[in-house]
Amino acid sequence: MRRMIGVAEADRLIFARMPELRAIQVPLVEAPGRILGQKIVAERDHPPFDRVMMDGIALGTEGLAKGKRDFKIAGIQAAGTAPLTLPSIDCCIEVMTGAVLPLGCNAVVPVEQIEVEEMVARIAPDLAIEPGQFIHAVGSDRRAGSALLAPGRRLDGPCVAVLASEGYARVEVAACPRICVIATGNELVEVASKPQPHQIRLSNAPAIAAGLNLHGWDAVTVRHLVDDREVLEREFESLLENHDILILSGGVSKGRYDYVPEVLAALGIAADFHGIRQRPGKPMWFGGREQDGKIVFALPGNPVSSLVCLHRYVLPALLKAAGGNPGRISVRLGEIFRFKSELTGFVPVRLVQDESGETVASARSTHNSGDFAALAMSDGFVELPEESESFAAGFCAGFYPWQV
Ligand code: AMP
Ligand code: MG
Repeated sequence: MRRMIGVAEADRLIFARMPELRAIQVPLVEAPGRILGQKIVAERDHPPFDRVMMDGIALGTEGLAKGKRDFKIAGIQAAGTAPLTLPSIDCCIEVMTGAVLPLGCNAVVPVEQIEVEEMVARIAPDLAIEPGQFIHAVGSDRRAGSALLAPGRRLDGPCVAVLASEGYARVEVAACPRICVIATGNELVEVASKPQPHQIRLSNAPAIAAGLNLHGWDAVTVRHLVDDREVLEREFESLLENHDILILSGGVSKGRYDYVPEVLAALGIAADFHGIRQRPGKPMWFGGREQDGKIVFALPGNPVSSLVCLHRYVLPALLKAAGGNPGRISVRLGEIFRFKSELTGFVPVRLVQDESGETVASARSTHNSGDFAALAMSDGFVELPEESESFAAGFCAGFYPWQV
């Protein structure tokens, strides 16, 4: 095996090989979770008109300045109707939240602060009314033409609200590469079948596909292959024809039947690295093929390792390829963490609240990298740098959540 590299070097090599994903148009309903591929600017001012913010009456404050307190209701301005005009400063107009402010009015008085009798609204003598009150002024949030969303954003509810308001029934997002998740191993059986005592159900492939799906990557197919050099070579070759990225799990360690690296080499997939100074996930392999841009992530088969490597390397790489920024999220440790090794450590954690109410990470360590049931009780994992073996409570660690 070649010299093992550090986690930062692994990031660098992966990012360097990832292609830029092309942009496609999708209907707005299919956009959530995907990565925005275009800049969005305001089509109109926000709000687009002087907007009434309370149910009540709209009036001109000149009348109040002259001591008037009774105003005849001259009309009703509902939301969605063109603006009425105040006939005189002795009058007011009944208004609804979301209506355009009637012309000639400069203040809104909420319905709770008036009394209405025979179409006359009365305002208490001591009630102070400021010009502009309860009016959301045209353009006061954003001006037409101002930037609202930058490319690279993962589209969430607030982003969809912006896209909808600006008229994007279709929106440009990063295309999902065609991804095949391949579990290798003779001991693995399908989820729906009953394992023999010496077998286990394959859990990595559905778990990897789930992580991909939750992060907006849905062009994912799942396969299971046995540890047989000829089978692997034949199947990888044909899967590479109609997929852009293969994510393998298993078969990259030093066992007699760990054929993955040599089979990939035979198919012309060059290794950028094999082995990272980290635990779990030390045997991870990554490479690609220059002539057609195919990418292969080969993750160790241990269930904890494969999910940690997916979230630590594969998902950030996909986000970067989509034009996003895989910036680090961090969290403070809620207790002392010890990681006795010269490797970078990834430790599953649960986010809990400390006595002051701050969210901190509490270790949910696995017994070993096969203990995937422990992962299901964690929210993600923290990264503990290789330079140290002990990390005090309050240390700010990189945090990788299972959920987006
Ligand atoms: P390997 O990397 O192939 O040596 O596998 C390491 C360990 O992970 C072995 O105990 C395997 O049985 C287990 N393993 C490999 N692939 C899977 C999978 N898809 N689901 C669950 N466990 C797996
Ligand atoms: Mg195996």
